[in-house]
Amino acid sequence: MNIRTIEGVPIQGKRVLIRTEFNVPLDQDLNVTDDTRIRAALPTIENAVTRGARVILGSHRGRPWGKRTEKDSLGPVAKHLSQLVGKQVLMANDCIGDETKRMVEQLKDGEILMLENIRFHTEENENTEWFAKELASLADVYVDDAFGSLHRSHASIVGVPRFVPIAVIGFLVKKELEFLEKALRYPDRPSLVVTGGAKISGKDGKIWVIRNLLDKTDTMLIGGKIACTFLKAKGFEVGDSLIDQRDVNGAGAQVKDDIEMASDVLQKAESLGTDLVLPVDAVVADKFDSEARLEVVPTSSIPDGWMMLDIGPKTSEVFSRRIKEARTVIWNGPMGVFEMEPFKSGTKMVATAIAEGPATSIIGGGDVVAAVNELGLGPKMTHISTGGGAMLAYLMGRDLPGLTALTDKHARERNG
Ligand code: AMP
Repeated sequence: MNIRTIEGVPIQGKRVLIRTEFNVPLDQDLNVTDDTRIRAALPTIENAVTRGARVILGSHRGRPWGKRTEKDSLGPVAKHLSQLVGKQVLMANDCIGDETKRMVEQLKDGEILMLENIRFHTEENENTEWFAKELASLADVYVDDAFGSLHRSHASIVGVPRFVPIAVIGFLVKKELEFLEKALRYPDRPSLVVTGGAKISGKDGKIWVIRNLLDKTDTMLIGGKIACTFLKAKGFEVGDSLIDQRDVNGAGAQVKDDIEMASDVLQKAESLGTDLVLPVDAVVADKFDSEARLEVVPTSSIPDGWMMLDIGPKTSEVFSRRIKEARTVIWNGPMGVFEMEPFKSGTKMVATAIAEGPATSIIGGGDVVAAVNELGLGPKMTHISTGGGAMLAYLMGRDLPGLTALTDKHARERNG
């Protein structure tokens, strides 16, 4: 990975601004209910503290879009972090301004100051230059450790690196990128990608992931609603499976385009020799409801008026076997409507097979992470990404603006 990290930079006595991803859930009493993202940032924070940096933490929380909302304050996160690091984390009332500057000036070596939610300013999302400069003026060194935000062109991600003397990545971003880079560029083989979910096209549609990974993986298992588009492209009838539950009237034209894209992918997979595996059977329901009537049918004969809401038991068996034969597994997207009990089984079987198999496993995306955690299988996964959207963008082969901002800066420095 050709990008500088915090390890290579002298930070003793320096003001080090670490962009973290502390977008964590709170309960009604403002207690942090899932601190995975805070814990994931600890190696970088502790490294900076131990090496005597004056540590400034900047993050967003929620979607306040320029409004100061109490519920999105980072105060409770500072309190929680204090307990994790065993020392007081000071809290600023804002992320810019005179008062914040004064607090930064008074910071001693090894002390930590948390800035208030960066998204309390619309200039963050708009990537406004004066705002990026204000944030940058707080720091001698910028460390991007917010993997989950690398795909966003926001001021604290792409603007600040331009205006600080030194900009590098932290240990979390390094770890996330190393796992993904290895899995896509030099995976232990056979390598396998499991994908599913509902969105096939559009900005975060899985078709882009599938297209990008076809020549980088040996096997691709496809479940979820997106599998129905591929089945249809192969000439199977899929009953009501492709009816969009949220937009029954508007989906027709898009569905036709999606089927064409799926056909292209099937052809490309064949010419590349990539093993693209579709469900052989399905759990079908007569309505989109957990109380619906259910049947298990071969995918070659999904009846009219029924929709596929999960992969069937034979498919689960095939998928599990393939997963256990693999040495690298990437998983993104559920196999069925796992939020409803009757359609959970496929997702559960995939999670279990990954947990039991020998492969290096990389999983990401809110649904899949939730399913794995619900089953208590988190510790059995090699790597659970802290950034679903950023991981998806990486798997799609898109540039991550946060990374580009740093690599551009490093290239400019090398070229004088
Ligand atoms: P995505 O955001 O594209 O990853 O989609 C995730 C959603 O896909 C989850 O909320 C699942 O309930 C949904 N999903 C998975 N399989 C199906 C299916 N066969 N039919 C409808 N929705 C599905």
